[in-house]
Amino acid sequence: MLSLCSLCSLWQVTFLMDKIIVLIGAPGAGKGTQARLLTERRGILQISTGDMFRAMRSGDTPLAREVQAVMASGALVSDDLTFKVVQERTSQPDAAGTYILDGYPRTLVQAEQLEELAEDQEKEIVAVEVDVPREDLLKRLTGRRTCPVCGEIYNVYSKPPKVDGRCDFHPDAELEHRKDDQEATVAARLATYDELTAPLLDYYRKTDRLKAVDGTGDLQAIYSRIEKAIS
Ligand code: AMP
Repeated sequence: MLSLCSLCSLWQVTFLMDKIIVLIGAPGAGKGTQARLLTERRGILQISTGDMFRAMRSGDTPLAREVQAVMASGALVSDDLTFKVVQERTSQPDAAGTYILDGYPRTLVQAEQLEELAEDQEKEIVAVEVDVPREDLLKRLTGRRTCPVCGEIYNVYSKPPKVDGRCDFHPDAELEHRKDDQEATVAARLATYDELTAPLLDYYRKTDRLKAVDGTGDLQAIYSRIEKAIS
């Protein structure tokens, strides 16, 4: 970026580092929706570990069965496997610039592994907390429906599809109620978040890399807050 130096009045070139934007929030906080908006509007790549694991569990291999079992219980996939998946995905050419990590890191070990990755990739980490009260999270999660074709996310309470149970863009596709959005699993996922992921807020706060954003209200208002936080 070319800017005028206020002290020496000379034009100077400033090199801005690419960023790894880490979205942190409890399940249902809207990280996925906001990351998709950032991709659509700002062209920033979204990398979602949850989406990658959902894709991985569809095969009939020991790994797929393991991922399936872990996700169905509301627990987390192991740190090392998750790191491998993130490392491999972020080494693709389309991740050469700034990208968003949606759902990663989720433990302190993962946060430390990400520090190394960021250093290797010469990128700076910016963490954004998407903060939503617990009652809202429960409604959002149990009401969530997803299109199996394009991944579009609906909510039976706040963003219903035009035709009940069908994607607006793929009317032949029946919307899915993810197994991990069903009540018992939701409770387990929230407990996992409180125990393992919430401590990351302090981790990034202490190193002055955390921006907290109110994750309630309409999508556009939340998006504007996030956009401001990462600019
Ligand atoms: P999400 O869609 O981000 O809520 O992720 C769905 C599920 O995928 C989680 O409940 C975990 O079982 C698994 N998962 C996603 N991201 C991670 C991660 N960073 N570490 C471990 N497991 C993960």
